[in-house]
Amino acid sequence: MNKAKRLEILTRLRDDNPNPTTELNFSSPFELLIAVLLSAQATDVGVNKATAKLYPVANTPQAILDLGLDGLKSYIKTIGLFNTKAVNTMKTCQMLVDLHNGEVPEDREALEALPGVGRKTANVVLNTAFGWPTIAVDTHIFRVSNRTKFAMGKNVDLVEQKLLKVVPAEFKVDVHHWLILHGRYTCIARKPRCGSCIIEDLCDFKDKTE
Ligand code: SF4
Repeated sequence: MNKAKRLEILTRLRDDNPNPTTELNFSSPFELLIAVLLSAQATDVGVNKATAKLYPVANTPQAILDLGLDGLKSYIKTIGLFNTKAVNTMKTCQMLVDLHNGEVPEDREALEALPGVGRKTANVVLNTAFGWPTIAVDTHIFRVSNRTKFAMGKNVDLVEQKLLKVVPAEFKVDVHHWLILHGRYTCIARKPRCGSCIIEDLCDFKDKTE
C-alpha cells in the first residue's frame, strides 16, 4: 500500500472519530492498568462490569492488597482466567507499593516487569494513560493491518514495527484505537462488513464482501 492511500485511510478514520479512546472504563492510570490486565481473552464489557463494582471499593494498589486474594477474586470471578489474573494483580499491586510508591510507572521497562503485564499492556498504558505514541497490536489490529495491507507482518511485533514506521506522527497517538474499533465493529474476523466500511475503496483486501 502506498503512502497516499495510508494517509487517506488515517484521515477518514480521524474524521469519523476525532477523539477515540478505549472502551475500558477507568479514571486513573492504575485503574486502566488493572482493567487491561484483566481484559486478556475477555471482553471489555465483561471487564467493565467487574470493575464497576471493584473500583468503588478498591482502586489503589494498597486497597486491592487489603482485599486479599480471595476478596479480589470475588469481584472478578465472572472474567475468564480470573484465578491467574487475580494472582498477577496481587503481585503487581505489591510491586507498585514496594518499588513505585503505589504509582503506575511511566516507563516501559518498569511496566513490563510487572506480573501479567507484557508489551501489549505496557503499550496500552503508555498510550492511553500517558499519551505516548505507542501502538499496541492486538488481534484486531493484527487482522486489519494485514487484511487491508496497511501494515503487513507475520506476527504482532512485526506489525507494530511496521505501523510505527508508516504512520505519520500526527496520527500515532490515536491509530491504535481507530484500528481496534474498526476491527471490532466493521472489519470483523469472520465476515468483514465491507459494504458499510468507510475505507472500502482504499483497502487492498482481495475478497471484499457486499
Ligand atoms: S473493505 Fe472490508 S476488508 Fe477492507 S477494511 Fe473495510 S471491512 Fe475490512
